[in-house]
Amino acid sequence: MKKGYFGDFGGQFIPELLMPPLIELEEAMKTILPSEKFQTRFIQMLKENVGRPSAMTYCQHMSKDLGLDLWLKREDLNHSGAHKINNTLGQGLLAKMMGKEVLLAETGAGMHGVATTVAAAMLDMKAVIYMGAADVVRQAPNVNRMRLMGAEIIPVESGTKTLKDAINEALRRWLADQENTHYCFGTAAGPHPFPDLVREFQQIISKEARQQYMDRNDGNLPDIVTACVGGGSNAIGMFHHFVPDESVKLVGVEAAGTGEPGCDNSAPLNLGTDGVLHGMKTKLLQTDEGQILPSHSVAPGLDYPGVGPEHAHLQDIGRAEYVTINDKQALNAFKVLSRREGIIPALESSHAVAYAIENKDKLHGKSVLVCLSGRGDKDLGILDQIL
Ligand SMILES: *Cc1c(COP(=O)(O)O)cnc(C)c1O
Repeated sequence: MKKGYFGDFGGQFIPELLMPPLIELEEAMKTILPSEKFQTRFIQMLKENVGRPSAMTYCQHMSKDLGLDLWLKREDLNHSGAHKINNTLGQGLLAKMMGKEVLLAETGAGMHGVATTVAAAMLDMKAVIYMGAADVVRQAPNVNRMRLMGAEIIPVESGTKTLKDAINEALRRWLADQENTHYCFGTAAGPHPFPDLVREFQQIISKEARQQYMDRNDGNLPDIVTACVGGGSNAIGMFHHFVPDESVKLVGVEAAGTGEPGCDNSAPLNLGTDGVLHGMKTKLLQTDEGQILPSHSVAPGLDYPGVGPEHAHLQDIGRAEYVTINDKQALNAFKVLSRREGIIPALESSHAVAYAIENKDKLHGKSVLVCLSGRGDKDLGILDQIL
């Protein structure tokens, strides 16, 4: 395999000027990351600050209702409410040991900004968060959270004043201030080595879940392992240790938007074509001329026109299957899990739960292990608007 590639996908499609910090990061992944000093501290922080290992829960009532065995890996129980902290704390600690003082991040809905700010506060670093000016207004509660925990928020007034403009400005800032700054990328995407680095910090999800499932099921493995796919970090973390288990079917769930033909969606693996965005070759929602199309999902964390390159590869070689769930199906799963199990899932994670609900006939008698990537408290405002 070519360095930095997953089959045909991945790579480093970036300006020459960004190579030095990426090379520095790659070096740190070889020297600092495997060191006993890093590993000891990281494992300790995951335990004491994040609350790992996260639980695995059997859904008694939904299993009966659906005629299958439904299990949840509870990333919603992590401190700050989702899987994102596994990555931001890992990158933060690595950056700190590299001698950096600033964690730089872009954020759309604000969840990655919050997770980066939490990590910065834990590590006594400074968080600088780039956010589209339109998003700063729309996502006021997350902006307040970040400010309370000490982040400097930089509203981006260029372009559409949303996520992709924030990414451009954050990259510019990184170029200007490489010495002191680490760019804390939010998902298992972007230029090499970020897809590897983020997977490294998220693989703990399947490392724990695989063992927990076997301990609870006489050494057997689940039939199906599933997770929602935005950029792909919780899904790659949930898949990683199951990839060699040929009997386990891996299913990634993309967001279909409203589900009407031709509607804006966030399903590049199902509806996209090969292209280059944010430093990587992957599947993208784009026009024939290569202009990026607007994406949509009721779940803000899934609303991204691209996807991490390892997923494009797993799809290509047939190891994982990628399906879609629309807004309405996800909202239904949100309500069903809340009502039947007393667990309010994030709208993102609701897409993965909906996969089990919508395919209950096909999955009859099977065991389905779902990554519940986050909790839904953050989504109650969206729900008020819709319901
Ligand atoms: C951000 C987010 C996602 C989507 O990101 P991935 O990188 O695809 O995991 C999914 N679920 C929750 C709860 C999130 O906050």
